Amino acid sequence: MREPEVTSVRARADLATLPSYVPGRSIPGAIKLASNEVSGGPLPSVAKAIADAAMQAHRYPDMGAGELTARLAAKLGLPETQIAVGCGSVSLCQQLIQATCTAADEVVFGWRSFEAYPIVTQVVGAKQVRVPLTDDHALDLDAMIAAITPRTRLMFVCTPNNPTGTLVRKAELDRFLDAVPSNVLVVLDEAYFEFVTDPDATDGIDYLRERDNIAVLRTFSKAYGLAGLRVGYCAASEEITAGVRKVYVPFSVNHLAQAAAIASLDAEDELFQRVHEIKGERVRVRDELIAAGYEVPETQANFVWLPLGERTAEFNDHCLEHKVVVRAFVGDGARVTISTPEENDVFLTAAKSFSR
Ligand code: PMP
Repeated sequence: MREPEVTSVRARADLATLPSYVPGRSIPGAIKLASNEVSGGPLPSVAKAIADAAMQAHRYPDMGAGELTARLAAKLGLPETQIAVGCGSVSLCQQLIQATCTAADEVVFGWRSFEAYPIVTQVVGAKQVRVPLTDDHALDLDAMIAAITPRTRLMFVCTPNNPTGTLVRKAELDRFLDAVPSNVLVVLDEAYFEFVTDPDATDGIDYLRERDNIAVLRTFSKAYGLAGLRVGYCAASEEITAGVRKVYVPFSVNHLAQAAAIASLDAEDELFQRVHEIKGERVRVRDELIAAGYEVPETQANFVWLPLGERTAEFNDHCLEHKVVVRAFVGDGARVTISTPEENDVFLTAAKSFSR
């Protein structure tokens, strides 16, 4: 009798080099300042909307997120055809690449920036082109322009940049966009848009009205406090949003998420009070860190970046001893979420007692 052939199904060979997304850790009894979340739970009105939506858990959600899309379109002054809702903006990052790139194409982004960019690029099989930040920890837009080749299809511009908090200002962005070929999609990742106070900041939606090679990403995870429900949105040309919808995993934005996002749009005044407090705390925390001798780039997001280089792991351990979880990028720096005054004080006590 013939021996059965020994076969095994193999995962794609290139996945062996695919970095895993490392989530911020939650440690019982410690303060989590590792994921740029807001620390307060949902408002009562939002919690009620979630509970009501739970009564429809036996039904599939509205696949097109029609009501939420209509609300976002009205808020942004765009037609509904220019909005696509997704399972967090990280999903939309991946969908944008899937909708525009093939394996022959290149995706350009600053580095360090949002750590999902290399992953989603590689998942699609496209080639990542990382452009180092400036010495001031900001995106180097001139170097990003220089990195464009005939194979470049998509560029991520993260503003404010995660994890450094730095902003791309209007004059810089205008110059950059004028230099990018019109067949390259520029994704303005504005996950932290609601925390920005700089008068020279940009609003990606304004660019969308003038150019069709722009996609703007926003999320309900940060300022709206819905990180656990996974809902974000993309605003772009009709052609691009249609492509993004085509590669959507069906029903991936569930109806609890859709209902919570709609209730959050209704509760913006109350939610943005919390954002306002975070903006004030951001100034205080940064000032105190600078007074304690740290280098802290100016930040427009709900976190600070401490470029501690080789001392990052030690700083991380020190914070853990003080029951504070920060986000360490070993060998590079630590990113710390701005939270309530009380939680920020616990972090500041830890930071000030780190021997430097
Ligand atoms: N973009 C940036 C710059 C981020 O920092 C994050 C979250 N850390 C995201 C996108 C994704 O957020 P979400 O998927 O929760 O919308």
